[in-house]
Amino acid sequence: MATPVTLNTGAKMPIVGLGTWKSPQGKVTEAVKAAIAAGYRHIDGALIYRNEVEVGEGVHAMIKDGVVKREELFIVSKLWCTYHQKPLVKSGCEKTLSDLKLDYLDLYLVHWPMGFQAGEEMFPLDSAGETITDDTDFLDTWEAMEELVDAGLVKAIGVSNFNKDQIEAILNKPGLKHKPANNQVECHPYLTQEKLISFCHSQGISVTAYSPLGSPDRPWAKPEDPSLMEEPKVKAIAEKHKKTPAQVLIRFQVQRNIIVIPKSITPERIQENYQVFDFELSEEEMKTILGFNRNWRVCPMPWGTKHKDYPFNTEF
Ligand code: NDP
Repeated sequence: MATPVTLNTGAKMPIVGLGTWKSPQGKVTEAVKAAIAAGYRHIDGALIYRNEVEVGEGVHAMIKDGVVKREELFIVSKLWCTYHQKPLVKSGCEKTLSDLKLDYLDLYLVHWPMGFQAGEEMFPLDSAGETITDDTDFLDTWEAMEELVDAGLVKAIGVSNFNKDQIEAILNKPGLKHKPANNQVECHPYLTQEKLISFCHSQGISVTAYSPLGSPDRPWAKPEDPSLMEEPKVKAIAEKHKKTPAQVLIRFQVQRNIIVIPKSITPERIQENYQVFDFELSEEEMKTILGFNRNWRVCPMPWGTKHKDYPFNTEF
């Protein structure tokens, strides 16, 4: 059984969702339909993925066909870095809602702690090729996120790629109205995130694992990079359970009570990635997989390393 994770708002968040970063506009509608047909009720998107119109088309096709109702779905999106200024937060959210043709999101995340210069350009660069930053304090961004909840545009708010100190800054903000419900971070056996997860859980903040399969289609992949699905020990565990390496990597997160959002545009893989509730990894196997940690990141966000709010310069 796919037991959902209960957020600090009381809402239930399905523990496995469909990722949509890199899913091409021409493929993602069918991927969303295949996912909903396979039982997924959680779709993870973002404005920066530039495919929210097509994601929405998949959602609406399945609602129209009577396969699912809007209230049975859990739709997540994210505020892009160029919308951090307080007056822009609502317009970022409204753009996503209008692209998806929805009147609310179940969860809306601040995609990164760093603000970039506002404007049409999503990755604004100066003549030296450096990102043009925006100095908005993310605590101000958070206040505008809280207003989205109060306006009924989103049911819950959270963060993504925030480190412990940055989450603590939000939790300690004078006048805090809504606590973050979720922190979405990179997490897989090469980056197990034990300390950050334990901190978030101790504060009642759920964690979502992104790039759970190691993101083999990331645009900057190098042939010499480690490959999770090729790890001999992952393969051996998979064979033992008559499952695939991808299923083991997804199950690994489910057993840690971590929400997990594998991306695929391949219908068979979409189905496969949801077949993770009929087997259990032993304590020994969980330990073996945790032992792969090497603090290796798929998404180090090289465009933000000089930003005052770059999150990955601290231990966790
Ligand atoms: P994943 O780790 O989910 O890997 C996706 C890749 O794995 C694709 O190439 C896919 O191929 C392949 N794949 C999927 N299932 C299988 C399978 N069963 N067997 C073999 N290969 C498989 O990478 P992502 O980086 O996309 O992460 C997942 C999601 O997390 C994103 O799509 C996005 O929604 C979110 N994310 C959020 C970030 C943030 O900053 N908050 C950053 C990065 C990701 P194919 O599609 O061709 O089937």
